[in-house]
Amino acid sequence: MPNPLAIPSPELIARLGTIVGPAHALGADDERQAAYLVEPRGKYRGRTPLVLRPGSTAEVAAIAAACNEARVALVPQSGNTGLVGGQTPGEDGAEIVLSLGRLRQIRGVDQARTSMIVEAGLTLAEVRAAAEREGRLFPLSMASEGSCQIGGNLATNAGGVGVLAHGNARQQVLGLEVVLADGRVWDGLRTLKKDNTGYDLRDLFIGCEGTLGIITAAALKLVPRPAEVATAFAALSRLEDVLALFQHAEAMAGGALTAFEFLPRFGIEVVTQHVPGARDPFPDPHPWYVLLDISGSTADGTAERTALTLMAEAAAAGIVADATVADSLARARALWRLREAMSEAQKHAGGSIKHDISVPVPLLPAFIAGAGCVVERVCPGARPMPFGHFGDGNVHYNVSQPRDMDTARFLALWQPMQDAVHGLVVEMGGSISAEHGIGRMKRDELARVKSAVELDLMRSLKAALDPNGILNPGRVL
Ligand code: ZN
Repeated sequence: MPNPLAIPSPELIARLGTIVGPAHALGADDERQAAYLVEPRGKYRGRTPLVLRPGSTAEVAAIAAACNEARVALVPQSGNTGLVGGQTPGEDGAEIVLSLGRLRQIRGVDQARTSMIVEAGLTLAEVRAAAEREGRLFPLSMASEGSCQIGGNLATNAGGVGVLAHGNARQQVLGLEVVLADGRVWDGLRTLKKDNTGYDLRDLFIGCEGTLGIITAAALKLVPRPAEVATAFAALSRLEDVLALFQHAEAMAGGALTAFEFLPRFGIEVVTQHVPGARDPFPDPHPWYVLLDISGSTADGTAERTALTLMAEAAAAGIVADATVADSLARARALWRLREAMSEAQKHAGGSIKHDISVPVPLLPAFIAGAGCVVERVCPGARPMPFGHFGDGNVHYNVSQPRDMDTARFLALWQPMQDAVHGLVVEMGGSISAEHGIGRMKRDELARVKSAVELDLMRSLKAALDPNGILNPGRVL
């Protein structure tokens, strides 16, 4: 174990302020700190003597070197959209927040436009727009893309709605630039597809949640933009039918199936009640809904024909109760809005206890049925809202409070509910964190689900790369 971390001294605070300049060193009495202290759900709220907003990799490196020397904790923060408490400072006010939001350069695009080097602080939406300006696609995509930043996406190996076809963040990176705990900079910004020269350092830092190094820039893979995309929305009676539709869609469309999301009736209800302009696509209510995209590389209508045939065949087979294929971009956007607005809209149904889990795709119906029983035992009347990335086996198993229950009393059940749901996940060979990471929220649980060998390897890596333990301490491990 490293020595205990120190409280930042006034001298260190002054020295760090000099590195970034007074306009970008926000002290404890600076009201601009507020945005950096609390995460989006309000579950983690911390204090810090200093928020630093460096403007270059060199400044990040100087900050790390100074904090390492002084044994002071650094909490790297990007768009502050993380959901596991990884990016907010602790309550004791001893950790310094390092915001990457001013690293906003696009450093370059290669001649063939197969890669683009960007700095950590660009939002995911800005990265996607930059790729689009080059006539290319950066396929990482999620509801928070207007505010989450690419550095954070990579540090947490984010998932989202494009994973089915393109993989998660890890699969979309060719190289990285990383500031190490001692202030050295690893320039691994290579754009090679093949580089088989020893240990893969890149994949060590992707998903490390800021505990092994600070990602300051990345070489991202760009792929061709689809020439056409057909969006379909289907209503189904049973979860087994959702699985059958997924298997049918995969068999028919193969790699052209680029999204397969699912929603429950309860989800459609909260969205249509609380999101302006959101409308149920169907006249009758149905227990389950699927939103899927089929993409095509030539604009000849193949994608739409495939989607229409898929829906017709699924209806004939009794899998799908009702279906619509969007006939315009506006209609496709409206259907996607139903899915993307769900997390936000759920707030209107009172307190919710959330899980981000995965199980093998064929076990999803059994998991959701089993989890329903488990939840009912922990809190009778609680209302599960399982939704998400069915095609990846990834469910956001959110549970809203019973209608007439006190919110605080419901949220006090977070631990027993999570233990019960995760118990089922582990039993089914699944993961307790499919795409949100570990942070502080699941740290103690990680120690229970990983083997002694896995934990030992992880601790060895942490000790080797951050011997003083200054980088995001208490997160992940
Ligand atoms: Zn998700």
